[in-house]
Amino acid sequence: MTAMRWGLIGATIIGREWMIRAIRDAGGTITSVYSTDAERGRRYAREFDIPDSTTDLDTLLQNVDAVYISTTNDRHHAECLAAARAGRHVLCEKPLATRYQDAVEMVAACEAAGVVMATNHHLRNAATHRAIRDVVAGGRIGRPLAARIVHGGALPAHLHGWRLKDVSAGAGAILDLTVHDSDLLRFALDDEPRTAMTLAQNGGLAQPGIEDAAMSTIAFGSGLIAQIYESFTTPFLRTSFEVHGTAGSVIAQDCMSQTPGGTVTLRTEAGEETLPLEQEDYYQRGVRAFHAAIAGQGRPAATGADGLVSLAVALAARRSAETGKAEPVMP
Ligand code: NDP
Repeated sequence: MTAMRWGLIGATIIGREWMIRAIRDAGGTITSVYSTDAERGRRYAREFDIPDSTTDLDTLLQNVDAVYISTTNDRHHAECLAAARAGRHVLCEKPLATRYQDAVEMVAACEAAGVVMATNHHLRNAATHRAIRDVVAGGRIGRPLAARIVHGGALPAHLHGWRLKDVSAGAGAILDLTVHDSDLLRFALDDEPRTAMTLAQNGGLAQPGIEDAAMSTIAFGSGLIAQIYESFTTPFLRTSFEVHGTAGSVIAQDCMSQTPGGTVTLRTEAGEETLPLEQEDYYQRGVRAFHAAIAGQGRPAATGADGLVSLAVALAARRSAETGKAEPVMP
């Protein structure tokens, strides 16, 4: 099979830190990078040995099979529609968009064009979370009744840009992190979120009016209740993901990160067991699944439709933080 030819839409930090390596390690070739700033694009291409850079999206779309969209959240919509129109497969960053209707249009455009669309919810690829999903699906904790995710830390200084300041770009912890946690719950529980009730907090890091932490309770279709906490502001927090059922509990720790790691413990009547895990790079695993889906084998780790639901949960959480009421996930 010839290597998948990728175009990068966005000269970004996530590309620099994770995705360029992941695409290459998964067997893809990066042919060009699109940036709105010619000099930034040229520098980025040089830094990563990418043959070309351009400020014209249509030029980028000419000679690629797939694109990776990692611009600010407000830009994903137009860039995804352009890629779909050109018949290119799309791996898009989360949140898919800043408005639900935009994400609906993105998913529909990819479907109409017959291209594969994926959302970069990397946590689905974590060995810890896949082990939790297997435990739950295998009935080892009985009927799951409650779940809890603690997902935060200190937002690194080099990310103190639009995330903390620019509402129109899609700032805030809810669009940044609540999307990941709601997607992870759907993935691990095979259940659908129905309502969200959220308190948002400004702990002094983000600009006034923008939340840098949030805590939500989410009700699922099965009746399960989940509590999730996301923050940019709590450096010494220990991340975790727990699911509690009628016959057992499964508890992952140090597991909500970009770096492979963490542990999973299963507690049942039989006692406590540490589950074996085969760790691997989350992003590379995601790109491999995307390549396979394009080749007609399986589906992406998280599809465009999955990204649509995680965005819907985040937007419901934002509405709830404003109204003080539980809000339905689906608008
Ligand atoms: P960046 O802040 O690195 O880049 C966002 C946009 O800002 C770029 O597209 C770029 O425009 C512009 N930009 C970059 N550098 C500068 C600069 N020096 N001055 C002015 N503008 C600049 O974004 P991130 O990498 O932090 O995030 C990008 C996307 O990826 C977001 O959607 C985010 O939610 C997602 N993300 C996902 C993660 C995951 O694990 N799945 C982790 C981190 C981020 P241009 O491209 O036109 O040059």
